[in-house]
Formats: sequence, structure tokens, C-alpha cells
Amino acid sequence: MFDPNEASHPMTDATHAAQFALTVDQLAFRDTAVRFAADVLAPAYKAQEKAGQISLQVRRQMGELGLIGVEFPEAFGGMALDHVTAGVIIEAVAEGDFNVAYIQLLASLCGAIVARHASPEISARLLPRIVAGESVVALALTEPQGGSDAAALVLKAVRDGDDYLLTGEKTSISMAEQCDWAVVFARTGTVAERARGVSAFLVELDAPGISRTHFTDLGQLAVGRGSIFFDQVRVPASHRLGAEGDGFVQVMQGFDFSRALIGLQCLSVARVCLAETWKYIGERRAFGKPLSDNQGVTFPLAEHETMVEAARLLCYKTLAAKDAGIAHTREAAMCKWWAPKLAFEVVHSCLLMHGHSGWSVDLPFEQRLRDVLGLQIGDGTAQIMKLIIAREALRSAKG
Ligand SMILES: Cc1cc2nc3c(=O)[nH]c(=O)nc-3n(C[C@H](O)[C@H](O)[C@H](O)COP(=O)(O)OP(=O)(O)OC[C@H]3O[C@@H](n4cnc5c(N)ncnc54)[C@H](O)[C@@H]3O)c2cc1C
Repeated sequence: MFDPNEASHPMTDATHAAQFALTVDQLAFRDTAVRFAADVLAPAYKAQEKAGQISLQVRRQMGELGLIGVEFPEAFGGMALDHVTAGVIIEAVAEGDFNVAYIQLLASLCGAIVARHASPEISARLLPRIVAGESVVALALTEPQGGSDAAALVLKAVRDGDDYLLTGEKTSISMAEQCDWAVVFARTGTVAERARGVSAFLVELDAPGISRTHFTDLGQLAVGRGSIFFDQVRVPASHRLGAEGDGFVQVMQGFDFSRALIGLQCLSVARVCLAETWKYIGERRAFGKPLSDNQGVTFPLAEHETMVEAARLLCYKTLAAKDAGIAHTREAAMCKWWAPKLAFEVVHSCLLMHGHSGWSVDLPFEQRLRDVLGLQIGDGTAQIMKLIIAREALRSAKG
């Protein structure tokens, strides 16, 4: 019989630890990214928000340190590393600046679609620039009439000789003003075909007929969002990603990856807040003793620690499943609804534990709160994630 106190049981802690431990290489990436986050990103978190953009210098530094697109094939500037390593990096980068982590997030989400479905020539032209931090590629899926029901999109792509002509609007696009390229999802079939009538195109955004607008948002101001308008934009047919009608599947597969990264990005902010708050409550005194002497203060933090650790393991499990080629749509949806919500709750709680100073813009809690909130919507809302989890559960219940 299994005795949890018996050290010699075959499933010892060490065995469990080995399953979840990071490799030496992953730890090395983590060290590099953590140092960069602490030395460069964290001190500039507020300044980049004020500037309303992520500086090219920061992007290039990330590129030089090898923090963008590590999972891309070597032929396209990447290191062909596993997806867990991408998770390790985004978590470390977000410790310093949640918004800068978007550079890696968009690179990984869009880069995977390009690497898999673009011609080798196009991938070789674009992906090394992304890895170097020189180019940013946005994901252009959402349209004004709706984002959750993405299969109903209407932006039109009409074949014209060797090209397609794209006409319509994409809205709510992260880094709309800072990106050079976009993976654009357009309707090549009929609206009645829904997902099967959607194709993906890699569009260079200096093409004639493209214009952009800027949104005034609550948070993620260094990332920024906006609309991208397409007025008869000529896109070479060679820039179609995969076959006509394959676009929807491509983006959904991409989301299975990005949703785990987003989970880690958000939880990273929560972990930093918790670390700062444990320190603060040990130092701050009220009623003649440290705040940490009150279980009313420490217990909520202990609960947050537990939840954050569980959610974080779920994200890494999802990435490990991707690396192992195991289906992980269900887990990715779980990461996406839970982690951003949990992170928001933790940041909120840590802000309150800092009392009046937590409310001040002199401390980063208010910015973190605004920043993490956006990812309860971006990349799919909690309701849509729960629809996916329920669909998968019902499917397996049917057998
Ligand atoms: C910070 C941020 C970044 C973003 N970045 C990008 C980007 O880079 N590229 C891009 O293409 N898009 C981006 N988006 C858009 C985002 O993906 C959409 O906002 C999101 O998918 C929801 O779509 P919607 O806003 O049109 O809401 P709607 O689809 O109109 O939904 C409104 C509300 O109704 C709920 N709802 C809808 N249908 C159902 C249902 N069947 N059951 C229960 N509830 C339902 C939703 O959950 C939501 O709460 C971003 C959004 C934000 C906030």
C-alpha cells in the first residue's frame, strides 16, 4: 500500500520534481530573461506606458538575447527549441514588463502560423526579422461586428490574377500601429460556409490601401490597439498561408499555444505582486506589530500562492503536451479563462494590502491591474473558453 511518508516509494518527490523540473538549458534562458527583466524592463515599465509603445531598442535587445521565437525552425532564425522554453521566457520577461511580453507572444502565435504555412522563401524573409526584434507581426482576426464568433468574419479576399484584393476592417488589433506585418483572416468562401470559407494571408502593412487607427484604452498602453482598414489591398497569392479555407484551423491551432503563454504572462505579474506583498507585510506595522502577524493578511496571500502555483502548472502542462504532440485544446482554454482572472484578483488583493500607497501611481500595482485585465478579453473571453472546455468534455463523454 502507498505510504506518503515512506521515502523509498517509487514515486518519490524527486521523481515528481524531475517531471516538472526545468532543464539546464531552460534555466539558463530563464536566468538571462530574468536579469533582462529586472535590469532593463522593470525600471522602464511606466515610461514605456507613457511613450505608448515598446521601443525598438528593447525589441532588439530581446532579439540579441535570443528571447523571441526560440521555437522557430533554425532555418528561419529560431533555435527549434521546445514550447516549454517559450513559456519559461515569457514568464520571465513579464516579471519586468507585462506589455513587452507581447513581443514574444505575437511572434510565437503568428510566427508559428507563418513557419508552418508560408512558403520557405517568405518564412526566410520575415521570421529572422521577427526573431531579431526588427519586425512585429500582428494577428488580425476580430472585426467590428464581433470577435467571439470569429467564423462569421466578413473581410473579403477576392482572387484577381496572381493576387487577392482584400477589403474590410479588422479591429481591436494589438500593436496595430507598431506592427509591420499582419496575419489577416479573410473570407474567400461564402458567409454560409463559416469557418470553412476563411483563409489566412500574410500582409505587409505598407501596401497601398491600408490605414490604421488608434484606440484609447484602459491598459496595455505600450502595446496599444487599433483598427486596420483594407481598401482593395493587393496581396500576392503566394502570401496566402496554406490552402484556401484553411485559415480558421490555423488560428485555432495557434491559440492552443498562445493561450498557455498568456496564462504564464499574467501569472508572472501575480507572482511578482505576491513576492512584493510578502515583503511589505513583514515590514509594515499596525497596532504595534507587523501586518504579517495577522492571519487575516497572510491567509488570503497563502490562498493566492496555492492557486497561482496550480494555474502555472496547468500552463506548463499544456506546453509540455504541445511538445509531446498530445491534444491540448481543452487545457489551453482552461489556462486562458483561469489565469488572467486569477492574476487580476491577485494583483487587486496585493494592491489593497499596500493600503493607500497601493492606490498611488508611484507603485506599479494600478498599472499591472489595468494591464492584466485586458487579457480576460484578448485572445478569447472566459465564456468562449468555457464553451470550448464544455464541447471537449461532452465529446469525450460520448466516447
Ligand atoms: C487587450 C485586447 C487585445 C486584443 N488583441 C487582439 C488582436 O491582437 N487581434 C485580434 O484579432 N483581436 C484582438 N482582440 C479582440 C478580442 O479577441 C475580442 O475582443 C474577443 O474575442 C471578444 O470579441 P468581442 O469584443 O467582439 O465581443 P463579443 O463577441 O461581442 O462578445 C461580448 C460578450 O459576450 C460574450 N459572449 C459572446 N458569445 C457568447 C456565447 N455564445 N456564450 C456566452 N457568452 C458569449 C463574450 O464572452 C463577451 O463577454 C483584443 C482584445 C483586447 C481587449
